[in-house]
Amino acid sequence: GTFVIAIDGPSGTGKSTVSRRVATELQAGYLDTGALYRIAALAVLRAGLDPQDTDAVADLITALRLDPPTDPDHQRHHLDGEDVSEQIRGPEVTLAVTPVSANPVVRQHLFTVQRTLAMSGRMVVEGRDIGTVIAPDATVKIYLTADAAERARRRFDQNAARAVHAGAPAGQAGPGLADVERDLARRDTMDSTRSHAPLQAAPDAVVLDSSSMQLRETVRAVLTLAAE
Ligand code: C5P
Repeated sequence: GTFVIAIDGPSGTGKSTVSRRVATELQAGYLDTGALYRIAALAVLRAGLDPQDTDAVADLITALRLDPPTDPDHQRHHLDGEDVSEQIRGPEVTLAVTPVSANPVVRQHLFTVQRTLAMSGRMVVEGRDIGTVIAPDATVKIYLTADAAERARRRFDQNAARAVHAGAPAGQAGPGLADVERDLARRDTMDSTRSHAPLQAAPDAVVLDSSSMQLRETVRAVLTLAAE
């Protein structure tokens, strides 16, 4: 059968980095499903639509062709042939992605893309509903979490690293720690309380609290679970 490692959990746990490293280690593919929702949100913004306009957003996204990267060591995301890898991490997209991802027609359309890729071979698939909806038959299910303050700190550090990488002067890295913590809390609440595929651990998921774990320890823990 197929081999799928499903990694779910809230924002800022280090989920993406852990998932990518596990995939590289296992010579498996990697699918970042959050990036698909972010590309959909960017398409909505570019079309000038209101992210809350359920019907208009549904029509637009149903026609959207998505071809996400699966190489864990080469993740570039495209929209209409343009590389939007940086843009999809920006604040406008991060705000719009919540209502767009709560749209049931969007979720249904993205389901097909995700399910097809998840079944295409050895894959590490990362998101919010992988163990519950996309791959309920996954080989290993992990629910990665961490304290809210720790998750905010990690996301803040990641933002700072991205800003420096993008050429911003050090120290001018965007929103402060308190803003980041507020934004994570907002998204987690919305993701956990929406009616369609809310963020929750699958009943058979292994819950990993990484609050006091180093990145490599978390990677090691996931690899150990995958080898069992
Ligand atoms: O993982 P990331 O923070 O990039 O995901 C962005 C947003 O996409 C999440 O806050 C959530 O609203 C949505 N999402 C989702 N289901 C997934 C992955 C992401 O609803 N499987």
